[in-house]
Amino acid sequence: MKDSYSYVVLGLGGLGSAACYWLSRRFGAEVLGIEQFEMGHVRGESQDHSRIIRLTYHTVPYVRFAQQAYQAWSEVEAESGEQVVVKTGELNFWPRQTTLDEAAYNDSMAACGVPFEILEASEIRRRFPEFRFDDDIHAVYQPDGGLVGAIKANEVHRRLARRNGATLVDNMPVTKIRQVNGGYEITAGGRTIGAEKIVVAGGPWTNRLLAHFGVEIPLLVTHEQVTYVDSPNLPHFTPERFPVWIWMIHDNYYGFPVYGAPGVKIAKDRFKPTDPDSRGFEPHAGNEHDVLRFLEDHIPRAAGPVLYTKTCLLTHTPDADFVLDRIPGHPNCVCTVGATHAFKFASVIGRTLSELVADGSTPADISAFRFDRPGLKMPAVWDLPEG
Ligand SMILES: Cc1cc2nc3c(=O)[nH]c(=O)nc-3n(C[C@H](O)[C@H](O)[C@H](O)COP(=O)(O)OP(=O)(O)OC[C@H]3O[C@@H](n4cnc5c(N)ncnc54)[C@H](O)[C@@H]3O)c2cc1C
Repeated sequence: MKDSYSYVVLGLGGLGSAACYWLSRRFGAEVLGIEQFEMGHVRGESQDHSRIIRLTYHTVPYVRFAQQAYQAWSEVEAESGEQVVVKTGELNFWPRQTTLDEAAYNDSMAACGVPFEILEASEIRRRFPEFRFDDDIHAVYQPDGGLVGAIKANEVHRRLARRNGATLVDNMPVTKIRQVNGGYEITAGGRTIGAEKIVVAGGPWTNRLLAHFGVEIPLLVTHEQVTYVDSPNLPHFTPERFPVWIWMIHDNYYGFPVYGAPGVKIAKDRFKPTDPDSRGFEPHAGNEHDVLRFLEDHIPRAAGPVLYTKTCLLTHTPDADFVLDRIPGHPNCVCTVGATHAFKFASVIGRTLSELVADGSTPADISAFRFDRPGLKMPAVWDLPEG
């Protein structure tokens, strides 16, 4: 490790690892990434086999950003020779009681030229016989949807960054950041490191890091979990045969085909506030019960005993939009917050962070993700149904 670097990335989860990779393409050995725990630890947001990637979004800028996300992942795949995106198709079920605006999703996709089909219940049954729903449910099918192999993608970003000359270190918690002579001095793991420019990608710990810049934003960290189910019919639930799916209500159910572990994956948002340092790792039995019940009722051939349930954290912003901007008062420092749905965008967010911190601007439309937007004002109003 050197004593100083041009670019230092704080936090090596999904977004920080991506930022290291994209910075390393231009600045090689001038890039340092620092992680407080061991590389690939399970205390944050990014370490599971799969995360949904989709073009089905409720605004045109999000759909466009999602299109760019697929392009960024294909560059990573081409450079690494590893497949990280698996297209399975995506089925979004629209129950009558939803408070989400289906037209906003469909209109935004149409405006961006994204193909999709609206399927009535009889058509869902014919084309996707694993699902059982009443006749008042319809679905939107989008063929590009699928999953990103999250654990794999994080490893690939870090491996490529190292290959480009970047230094990535773990078990080095950043405890102090000080502005000195136009740059910064970072204290981490008992060492002091100089930095010209900084990327903050601290996930649930973001406000702890932003405090060193005299900045705080309204963030809520919640405890979540996903359940892998030991289905007796696994061959029916491979990525070639079974799509990712979402039950489109606020505290939604969603699921995946078999990938990374020998089980069908299902989850339901829990939204249980927690502290990232004192959280527990025990699964919530009620949530496990709910997801198993959902499978029995709606995807019965996937139902079976729990293989395992894995807990993780989510970081919420009040308006559910990302933070992706320069830190107020610190034009050489940028920050990102994934706002509960960023993994699919990890690589393009990494690229955007690298452009913002290196060039001061980016071609991506990130106006909705600014620090000074009305939706990010303190005090926050949280509208999360706790389950
Ligand atoms: C159950 C669940 C399901 C999800 N499903 C999806 C989905 O289907 N699709 C999707 O797109 N997104 C999904 N998400 C959201 C997505 O996973 C997150 O938005 C994304 O992983 C956030 O990554 P991150 O790098 O910001 O956070 P993290 O992965 O938590 O990384 C932050 C890192 O910063 C490090 N750090 C913090 N403070 C310090 C410090 N002081 N010094 C050094 N290092 C520090 C932490 O240790 C951590 O490793 C889901 C999230 C969860 C929990």
